[in-house]
Amino acid sequence: MPLDIDHLRRETPGCAHVLHFNNAGSSLPPTPVLDAVTGHLRREAEIGGYEAAAEANSALRDFYAAAADLVGGKPHEIAFIENATRAWDMAFYAIPFKPGDRVITARAEYVSNYVALLQMKARAGIEIDIIDNDATGQVDLAALEAAITPRTRLISLTHVPTQGGLVNPAAEVGAIARRHGILYLLDACQAVGQLQIDVATIGCHMLSATGRKYLRGPRGTGFLWASDKIVADLEPPFVDLQASDWLSETEYCLKEDATRFETWERFVAGQIGLGRAIRYALDLGMADIEARVKALAETLRAELSQIPGVNVHDLGAERCGIVTFSKADEEPLAIRERLRARNINITHTQARSSRLDLPTRGLEALARASVHYYNTEEEIERFCRAVADGR
Ligand SMILES: *Cc1c(COP(=O)(O)O)cnc(C)c1O
Repeated sequence: MPLDIDHLRRETPGCAHVLHFNNAGSSLPPTPVLDAVTGHLRREAEIGGYEAAAEANSALRDFYAAAADLVGGKPHEIAFIENATRAWDMAFYAIPFKPGDRVITARAEYVSNYVALLQMKARAGIEIDIIDNDATGQVDLAALEAAITPRTRLISLTHVPTQGGLVNPAAEVGAIARRHGILYLLDACQAVGQLQIDVATIGCHMLSATGRKYLRGPRGTGFLWASDKIVADLEPPFVDLQASDWLSETEYCLKEDATRFETWERFVAGQIGLGRAIRYALDLGMADIEARVKALAETLRAELSQIPGVNVHDLGAERCGIVTFSKADEEPLAIRERLRARNINITHTQARSSRLDLPTRGLEALARASVHYYNTEEEIERFCRAVADGR
């Protein structure tokens, strides 16, 4: 069954209000997700927060099963965390780094991950090896393998960067990690919900994701997947009553599964809503979602390229729903604001949040339009007309 776009748009209240090409920022949630979140908030107000959580126990548990289905893991390998950044942090800061340990990363690395690497460099004396792109713009696999030393402790890769349509070859990196027995942390924040993800195929040990981007879940939600083969070796940077069991005046023990990375208090309605959003994506089928997102983005790239003065800047052999471009006579921020005034949403991406990437390509900023499966060819045409008729 192909995706019924008219139906999916009717089930997306935002489609009646905006032309939304900021799905890599925060996509428009569908009605079932909205209802799951607001319905739970209403129950909290009616019967009490703890009582509402008890009532919603099966939906809360289903979040773990759904997230595991989505990435090909097991429910006990999932931790609910308030965003992708903290999910990544909980994994990264749990690694027992020693002075001289090396971490391999690439040009697409997300700003917050990279500043955490810098902090660990200052704090624990790790060294960072940045792998350049190959001729296609994806991480250079040969250079990555050649950079591995006996001191290499971690490969940290961003699957899809926030600042472009590139899809890094996560599974090929996983094969290298496996060959050398190196821990592999994948930031899949922009990939989850738009691309098919299978942790066994990719071969990563830990994967972080957010709710609000391509998954169409509520803001303030995310999750970590951590392989049960390595969880026991990871000491979370913070522990609480959710992450551990308090045994006596002198003892506690960490949870054996990925809940050791969680905190007890959480956005319960958000967890329910994210579970619902993941089920929604799984019901539609990730293969169909990926195919449509990629096709719409290719159409958008082709049509933008036809506009005089417009350049498309996406790198990579494989590309996704994120489309970055510049216009000769208009700054990215000005494009964004002009389009917003016409009820069209995009964002812009700047060198200061991608210092390993944009500056090395001689770029200061780019306009970023990111499409989802509920967008249409008609919206792409309308969008390109709006981009074209500048002033
Ligand atoms: C948005 C983003 C993040 C951070 O996600 P949050 O949920 O905002 O913490 C991490 N990595 C990448 C590649 C992103 O685009």
